[in-house]
Amino acid sequence: MSLDISHNLASIQQSLPADVLLVAVTKTKPLADLQAAYDAGQREMAENKVQEILEKAPQLPSDIHWHLIGHLQTNKVKQVLPFVHLIQSVDSLKLLLAIEKHAEKIGKPINCLLQVFIAQEETKFGLDPAEVKSLLNSPERKNCKWVNIIGLMGMASNTSNQEQVKAEFQSLKQLFDQTKAAEPQFEWLSMGMSGDYELAVAAGSNLVRIGSKIFGPRIVKNPSSAEKIK
Ligand SMILES: *Cc1c(COP(=O)(O)O)cnc(C)c1O
Repeated sequence: MSLDISHNLASIQQSLPADVLLVAVTKTKPLADLQAAYDAGQREMAENKVQEILEKAPQLPSDIHWHLIGHLQTNKVKQVLPFVHLIQSVDSLKLLLAIEKHAEKIGKPINCLLQVFIAQEETKFGLDPAEVKSLLNSPERKNCKWVNIIGLMGMASNTSNQEQVKAEFQSLKQLFDQTKAAEPQFEWLSMGMSGDYELAVAAGSNLVRIGSKIFGPRIVKNPSSAEKIK
């Protein structure tokens, strides 16, 4: 099993251009799998639930960079901030301001991405392009000193229609480029998962979030439309 993990990591890494960051999505996976990835040199790991970061982080080496990639409720911000390296799933001004408030309290600057809705599915969280612009230009955001918005994250539709997926990634890349003109600190365009990361990288992604292609399929007890057994 751990041989598979290091092999999978190496072959994905090899297929990626040097400037694309590989983030291993470890949700639902046991600590032994994460340790195997760590032993193979992987330091960027992502969870979609606060609870899983809180459980796993203290039991693993402290130089892991934890990314939060799932919806974050404002009442969990305080707990997760000490552990998190990058919050990729900021989807409202209210959440951004809650992060700002707690980041200031603990004196830790926090890097975030705005999650943008690009898929044609109802279930996924995210801002639309107009909401991205109004959030970035809002006076409340301009007053933020601790929270730093350094890019965008998006998920394409879960479809076999490659042209549609490609068009969705291209639309996010276009929004990224437009926004970066006014936000020079923008650095990361996070798009691409196990099934579509090649299309995402071709469209300009520089951060891919890959789970099942590294760790194998996840078994989910109550699959929702957004998270089926893969
Ligand atoms: C689960 C998840 C991934 C990884 O999905 P795989 O298909 O297993 O690679 C990427 N991004 C987000 C936001 C996720 O929730």
